[in-house]
This record gives sequence, structure tokens and C-alpha cells, in this order.
Amino acid sequence: MSQNLPVFDPTSSRPDGEDSRAVHAPRPAPPAQRPLGLPVWRSATFGFDTAQDYADVLADSTAGYVYSRYDNPTTDAFALGVAAIEGAALDRPVGAQPFASGMAAISSTFMALCRAGSHVVAPAAIYGGTYSLLQRVLSRYDVSATYVDVTDASAVAAALRDETSVVWAETIANPTTAVADLPGIAAVCREAGIPFAVDSTFASPAVCRPLDHGADVVVHSATKYFGGHSDVTGGVAVGDVALLERIRSVRIDLGGSMSPDDGFLLQRGLTTLPLRVSRHCATALAFAEALEAHPAVDRVDYPGLATHPQHPLARKLFLADEPDHGGATRFGGIVTVTPRGGRDAGMALCDRLRLASVATSLGGAHTLVSHVASTTHRQLDDRALAAAGISPAAVRVSVGLESAADLIADFTRALDASMT
Ligand SMILES: *Cc1c(COP(=O)(O)O)cnc(C)c1O
Repeated sequence: MSQNLPVFDPTSSRPDGEDSRAVHAPRPAPPAQRPLGLPVWRSATFGFDTAQDYADVLADSTAGYVYSRYDNPTTDAFALGVAAIEGAALDRPVGAQPFASGMAAISSTFMALCRAGSHVVAPAAIYGGTYSLLQRVLSRYDVSATYVDVTDASAVAAALRDETSVVWAETIANPTTAVADLPGIAAVCREAGIPFAVDSTFASPAVCRPLDHGADVVVHSATKYFGGHSDVTGGVAVGDVALLERIRSVRIDLGGSMSPDDGFLLQRGLTTLPLRVSRHCATALAFAEALEAHPAVDRVDYPGLATHPQHPLARKLFLADEPDHGGATRFGGIVTVTPRGGRDAGMALCDRLRLASVATSLGGAHTLVSHVASTTHRQLDDRALAAAGISPAAVRVSVGLESAADLIADFTRALDASMT
């Protein structure tokens, strides 16, 4: 008889009632072999042998799982995988936490680091959701914020106060692609004894690892490059173990925990993260160089272009393909293209594209475009846009995984049409 045919023995001890037997359906023992695919531990709650075992895990004195809002093995696997990438070059342990979204990671991090009366230093070119969190939610809890140019560490230093509880930066800014002076800000924060947190969503750890440059906590919208296929929402925070303990406890109380199914998709996404991001970057560089030369284009912002103000810093901070794969520096997959003309020129460019889709988000296989002034930065009038260095015509392009030649042809055709 095969050892592997599921066979049920009706004489085995089972409850008598039909309903009880239905509820307590038998299962095979957990396999001794290791699954290569990550199991989806789709269980809200976990059973214990004894009441004491339950109490010990709940008290965090024994490792284990109690309830999936607290922790779940599948979502922990994803967070651990991110820590292994972000912390690859460190000589100290790295804590990690999974979240239901990037904003859940960001809000829990602020709530863990701030208290009533806290002050935050944050980038002037900040992600809209984070700005809204600071201005509309945290302000009601007496947390104030000063917004500065994070390409300039002395601007951060000048904004510090006694009550400053966290300095926040984004590795690559939206949509200007300005690169934050991570080592300079880290030095300022270390000197002042203030935690330094970085939203590194636009870079992903395949482009930059802020912990290497002195950040204490790194957060990501995993919805973007980790997922990579525009089909899952998630977030993650990694970094200093003591800070991550605090962030975990806030996550548990606020409830922004990741679902096991999303954890599965995101952990699978990690498998191909370097491969995908490497290609995003190579295509983005070719795309940026081609479009910069088009007569209907006013400017192209991309850290890989020699014309970019932080190009030398990007060369220093950003990772490169392995030597076997050519060793090219990766400058990210986001390119901002500003056609000549005003608002209409930007919207018309979006409308004329065929391969690229008009959609929010970034970091997926599909190339996505968004007209900045009417979407992500719609609250800014032309004067405020100018102050932020953004043209009303600017179009943010999340370069996908299509063939570079096809993408360049799509944009070239759309731009050519604008000149006739
Ligand atoms: C998308 C994004 C977020 C928010 O992430 P969600 O997963 O949408 O909650 C935060 N920061 C940056 C830079 C982002 O691009």
C-alpha cells in the first residue's frame, strides 16, 4: 500500500456528532519536507497545547503565534526577507514588521516615535499621504512638522528643535526625483540623538539601502516594487530592533496588519526584486536619455542623467548590478518628463500614449503615467508648483518591464504628434 494515499480510518477516535466531525475534520501531519513555496498560514488564530503555553507566547516570553493581527508566519516571512535585503551589509541585527499598506507602516512609525508636543522634520517634497497624515491627523494630537529640502543636511540641522522626535526623508522624491542626502542627515541626527526614518519606496532596496547610510528605520510601500505586479497592497518597516519593537506594538494596537495572502504575494515578489528592479533601471536610463533629446521635451528628471543635480550623490548611494551582469549603477525606475507647454501639454502627452497606462501607483510591470499637477500634486497652484520645482506640464513615468524600444517609440510618437 502506498504511504502517500490519504486514507481515513473510521475506527480512529472521532467525536460522535455530525457537526463536531465536520468542525474537527482530520488533517495530515505537517510535512517533514520543506516547501519551496511559502505556505500561506491563513489562520486568524493559533491553538496551544496548554493554557501556560498560550500565556507565555502572549507575554512575548516565548516565540510563537497567537493571533494574526499580532503576528503571522507568512507575513513575518515577508518582513524578514526585506530585513535580509535592507540589512545585508550591516554587522548588527535588523528588526522588521509587515503592514497592510505603506501608510499603515508610516502612520505606525510616526505614532511609535512621537508623543503629544513632538516636532517632526520632514521633506518639503513629501509623499501626499504622509503630508496629509501629518497635517490632518497628527496635528490634532499636537504633533507639528517643519518641511525642509532634504537634499541639504544643513537645512535639516537648522530645523531641529528640543522637541524634535523624528527626522523623516524620502530617498528619491516624487516627482522631482531629488535624492536625499542620507549620510549628511544621518550625521545630523546621530549628533542630536534623534531617530532618522526614511521612506525608501521609490528606490527599493535594490537601488539604495538607507540603513547602510545611517538611517535607523526604513519604511516602504510594498505595494510598489516589492509586489511588482500592481496586484497587492502592503507595507513594511525595518531597522533598529528597539525601535521596531515599539513600532510592532503600535501596529498591534492600531491594527494595520498585513493579510497572509498578501504576505505570500509580497514574499514571492522578493524572489525577483533584484532582477525586476535592475531591468526597470536599465530601461528607465535608456528612456530618460532618449526623451531628453526630443525637441518637444523641456526637461527630464532622472538621477541617472548627468544633468541631475544629485547625480554624483546618486552614484555614491545607489547600488549597481553585479559585475557578471555588467555592473551598471541603478538609478531607479521613475522618470519625470516635462513636455514643452503648460498643463495641457502634460495631459495631452498622457492621452496620446498607447503602451503606457494613465494610472496612479508605480513599481509594477506595466508602465504608468500620471500628470503631476492634476493628480498627485493637485492641491498645489502654479506658484506652489514652481516653488517645489515642478512644471504644470510634468508627467511622472513609472517605467515598467516592457521593451525599452517600444516605450521610447510610444512616447516619441506621442511627442511628435504634439508638434504637428
Ligand atoms: C505609495 C506610497 C506610499 C503609500 O503606500 P500605500 O501602500 O499606498 O499605503 C508612501 N510613500 C511613498 C513614497 C509611496 O509612493
